[in-house]
Amino acid sequence: MAKKINNFKHKPFWWDDAKLEQCNLTGGIDELPVKISTLIVGAGYSGLSAALTLARAGREVIVVDAEMPGFGGSARNGGLIGPTLHKLGLKGLTAAYGESKTTAILHESMKILVYLKEFIKSEAIDCDLILKGRFYGAYSTKSYDESMRRSEYLNKIVDLQFEPVPKSEQYQQIGSDFYHGGVVYPDDSYLQPAKYLIGLCKLALDAGVKIIAPARVTGVEYDGNRRIAHFGHRQIEVGQILIATNGYTGPELSYFHKRIIPIRSAVIATEELDPSIAAGLSPKGRGFGGLSRLAPYYRPSADGKRLIFGGRTFEVKDRADRYAPDLKRLMTRIFPQLSNARISHAWSGTVAYTFDHVPHLGEHDGIHYVMGYCGSGIARASYYGRMAALKMLDQSEGKTELDGLEFSTRPLYSGKPWFLPYILRWHSFVDRFGL
Ligand SMILES: Cc1cc2nc3c(=O)[nH]c(=O)nc-3n(C[C@H](O)[C@H](O)[C@H](O)COP(=O)(O)OP(=O)(O)OC[C@H]3O[C@@H](n4cnc5c(N)ncnc54)[C@H](O)[C@@H]3O)c2cc1C
Repeated sequence: MAKKINNFKHKPFWWDDAKLEQCNLTGGIDELPVKISTLIVGAGYSGLSAALTLARAGREVIVVDAEMPGFGGSARNGGLIGPTLHKLGLKGLTAAYGESKTTAILHESMKILVYLKEFIKSEAIDCDLILKGRFYGAYSTKSYDESMRRSEYLNKIVDLQFEPVPKSEQYQQIGSDFYHGGVVYPDDSYLQPAKYLIGLCKLALDAGVKIIAPARVTGVEYDGNRRIAHFGHRQIEVGQILIATNGYTGPELSYFHKRIIPIRSAVIATEELDPSIAAGLSPKGRGFGGLSRLAPYYRPSADGKRLIFGGRTFEVKDRADRYAPDLKRLMTRIFPQLSNARISHAWSGTVAYTFDHVPHLGEHDGIHYVMGYCGSGIARASYYGRMAALKMLDQSEGKTELDGLEFSTRPLYSGKPWFLPYILRWHSFVDRFGL
């Protein structure tokens, strides 16, 4: 087994044909001017969407990234897009905010999906967007029945389109016997994440945004009068600041660090597969997910020649030597026909959970922020990044259903999720025994 997964590249498959260097025109903190009108921290989908909106409204905008644009989740993710109405979120949301607020947030989630597709189309972003829906496999007949009830409920309240897939018809959706049937969400889609990131960078640059990287913000402060951004030895006065650092929010941004739970997610890509095997994995070109807490997410590459397969890992650090074999094992449990497939790439990144399972945006002590997409951020970061910018511009279209939700932390939580391995193991146990 170990032999078959050696020689993989320890970097995202996406970066082979989408060079992130195209975004990074200016490097280093010495490039920063003495004063900045609008500073955005983090050059991912959130920060760049915000920058684009602000620049098109006439603002002078600088985006900085500690590493390079797309270094965070935005050029590493699985590329799968859906309205994010997942099981845990639905329960967590209702418990925290009651039914009517939850329904309003779910409506907004549906709207965000439409927003992203229209945005990519109207801006002509070349990012291999594939509109073929997603099949979510059930792990037991109980979970199949539950998913039908849930889908019917969501169809009634937010018009979520779905197609039940009984076990007897599963082969029409997926070349696997693994699941107990499932459900197709035909409006889900997938894209090439790094190409989308580069597309956003280009739009922002064309609108006059300056992107400076590497340039790490080492602290921000507001004394009621002046905002200061620290960059190591340099201190720069800033008109407005937006923090858009999501799963990469460090202790230098302590208020936000204490509100974000970073969780590692890892992905592998197969080498080009035998065409007859590749064609059978997703007969209708669908993306895939599962109806459990720690379900893997996977999809064909845009040319259909490879499988890109991701999931949560128990590893705190980026240990590809450990998570790549784990993911390969899981992949071959679902697709035994891939047991001889070689892995060409393996990589990981951190997603940002929040204690109430929803993203947060707003202003705290004079500093704007947008983050916390709980693992589903392609559409949400694009949309809420724009909304955060509209709030900075004081425009009423920046209103969202998330406004005013308390961005909570927990006593003794300092930004290091020591409890995570226990929670992940518990979820894995629950998934295994269908509790
Ligand atoms: C492996 C993986 C798989 C995923 N799969 C999916 C998926 O299939 N579908 C989906 O919808 N979502 C997925 N996601 C989540 C999605 O990628 C994120 O929610 C989204 O990219 C968040 O975008 P962002 O711009 O808010 O943050 P990011 O893209 O993470 O960008 C944050 C940036 O902030 C920078 N930064 C941090 N601190 C500082 C500082 N002090 N100074 C300057 N810069 C700083 C970082 O370098 C980083 O580039 C996945 C994420 C990962 C990691």
